[in-house]
Amino acid sequence: MRILSSEMKPLVSLDQHEAAQLGNQLFRFASELYPICRSISGDGLRRTLRLIGEHIPITISEVPSGTVVFDWTVPKEWNIRDAYIKSPSGERIVDFHKSNLHVVNYSTPVRAVMSKEELQPHLHSLPDYPDWIPYRTSYYKEDWGFCLSHNQLLTLKEGNYDVCIDSTLADGHLSLGESYFPGRTSDEILISCHACHPSLANDNLSGLTVAVHLAQLVEKLRSDHHFSYRFLFIPGTIGAITWLARNRETASQIRHGIVLTCIGDKGNFHYKKSRRGNADIDCAVAHVLSHTPGSPEILDFFPYGYDERQYCSPGFNLPVGCLMRSVWGTFPEYHTSADNLDFIAPLKLAESLGVCAAVFDVLENNTRYRNLQPFCEPQLGRRGLYRSAGVNSMPDEINARLWVLNQSDGQHTLLDIAERAGLPFATIREAADLLAASELLEVVSENPARDGASQAARNE
Ligand SMILES: [Zn+2]
Repeated sequence: MRILSSEMKPLVSLDQHEAAQLGNQLFRFASELYPICRSISGDGLRRTLRLIGEHIPITISEVPSGTVVFDWTVPKEWNIRDAYIKSPSGERIVDFHKSNLHVVNYSTPVRAVMSKEELQPHLHSLPDYPDWIPYRTSYYKEDWGFCLSHNQLLTLKEGNYDVCIDSTLADGHLSLGESYFPGRTSDEILISCHACHPSLANDNLSGLTVAVHLAQLVEKLRSDHHFSYRFLFIPGTIGAITWLARNRETASQIRHGIVLTCIGDKGNFHYKKSRRGNADIDCAVAHVLSHTPGSPEILDFFPYGYDERQYCSPGFNLPVGCLMRSVWGTFPEYHTSADNLDFIAPLKLAESLGVCAAVFDVLENNTRYRNLQPFCEPQLGRRGLYRSAGVNSMPDEINARLWVLNQSDGQHTLLDIAERAGLPFATIREAADLLAASELLEVVSENPARDGASQAARNE
């Protein structure tokens, strides 16, 4: 039951060298995925899912275009081979092969010669950030267009431009990637991230990268964990809607869930609570972040954002929150070519992975104990559990033992105790492990987060 602590130890217990190594691994994987032109359907998405499949077992489902999913319909599949604008002198001035952001994602095919005036309505740029290329999509309205830097737009001269988008928009499939790791029970923890953005690093690749490595940690535990873990690698919005429409029974098994997005940049952590606002996942993440460097912020639920919107729609109302560093839409690089590999950092990815692992540790191990020696303090010294003589300050681990003994009256969980003591959950859990091994504690409830008791208590 305690194995999580060894594999999923919070990053704070990794030394600098280990954290750097882990960060480099994560960054390498993001770099590998970066050049691929992904979309909400098509071969770029499939290739991404297959690359994920080289690291963890993954099931890829293909849902046909035209399938009705709740109020939505699975769209046609989009694929692209080439796209360019040639100047009046015949030079490729905008080239899909230089940046896949140059094409409005889901553009219909075009082959035409047109004047600058005819072309202009199809060109998108960012006057406020004149060197960056914007990221634009047109999934649900058939259209086409190009994105380019504003500085380049200003250089376009009068004349005829050769315009080509060699794409197809045709009946095909929507691909959903799923990795499932059964635990001792069918109660599930969901980790969901979108895999539909082309060359954007923080927005989509950071979440994918951290999720894949989390899945590797879970896989190493060989089912020796309470919860079953389900990782979804899906196109944003339509992917979550499609998955939920086809998995209503499975969705009812989700006890805790987290959407990962924009978690590789240098900003502070932000956690957006589930619609419930007081779910165990909300408390677990808030606790872990309160012991994470920087100034993490907890945000109340709001009904726009990433796929937590679908999981938290009133019909499902699942306990699913969203973990971010910088909040999408609030940093200028968001949805532009500046959200590139320089915008994310190996150590930040590793730190985000550490936060997620620490959250799993809380969810798996939030036991409630009873102190078996409640009349005065038990003598810890003769059990080798007290500080050695001459040490003046109270080390955290000793402090944690005293807190666990004092608060273990059968009412408080380890998370309650960690909060009251102002110590990280892992420190409190390690203390409880030691005290239980010394027969000073007995288990009252293995984990209220597992049996719904803590949720029920908060709802009373
Ligand atoms: Zn996005």
